[in-house]
Amino acid sequence: MATMNPPAGAGLAAVRRDIETACREAGRDPAGVTLIAISKTFDAAAIEPVIAGGQRVFGENRVQEAKAKWPPLLARHDGIALHLVGPLQSNKARDAVALFDAIHSLDRDSLAGALAKEMARQSRRPALFVEINTGAEPQKSGVTPQDADAFIAACRERHGLAVAGLMCIPPFDEAPAPHFALTAQIARRNGLTLLSMGMSADFKIAIAFGATHVRVGTAIFGARA
Ligand SMILES: *Cc1c(COP(=O)(O)O)cnc(C)c1O
Repeated sequence: MATMNPPAGAGLAAVRRDIETACREAGRDPAGVTLIAISKTFDAAAIEPVIAGGQRVFGENRVQEAKAKWPPLLARHDGIALHLVGPLQSNKARDAVALFDAIHSLDRDSLAGALAKEMARQSRRPALFVEINTGAEPQKSGVTPQDADAFIAACRERHGLAVAGLMCIPPFDEAPAPHFALTAQIARRNGLTLLSMGMSADFKIAIAFGATHVRVGTAIFGARA
């Protein structure tokens, strides 16, 4: 983005154009890429113009923040889907299953168990993405690439969960392409079709590597405080 804080709507339109261009260059149908507008830290006043611009899929990284902010917005607008893209503690599984339509941070057995229990209890089925820590960074959440197949199998067989796809956040200081390629490879060999990858800085590259869900915050809302 040339400006730090684009006027409301301008960022969204630019991101949509970039997604179309990236799809054309990759020989893909833009309908196969879902834009998730990451609204973390932004309040309802900042989100309303983006909804007015036609955006219906939003992402948050904290359950508490989303729970405080979204219910009034959901009451005012039809057809909005909320995705949780940040780490999830097992003790927040109940709130997460109640509020979100997709959860991108499934990365450990205890969480798989907590989600399975809540999904049964609430009869809700958010789409689940297993987060892959492609850079095997110790401070980061996600399962390592070598543990991915076993974890996906455990989600399916032990917990009866339908895994929808994979998510990754490449290391900040590395070229993202190999991380996107690795995530796509793990998805393929596990029969998964959805790929949540790509943020403001790299969503065009992610689309070239098969991203079906791009998570874009800054390029839509401007810089976070
Ligand atoms: C904040 C966040 C994003 C969006 O990042 P931008 O660089 O602002 O586009 C995407 N994914 C996750 C998991 C995030 O926490």
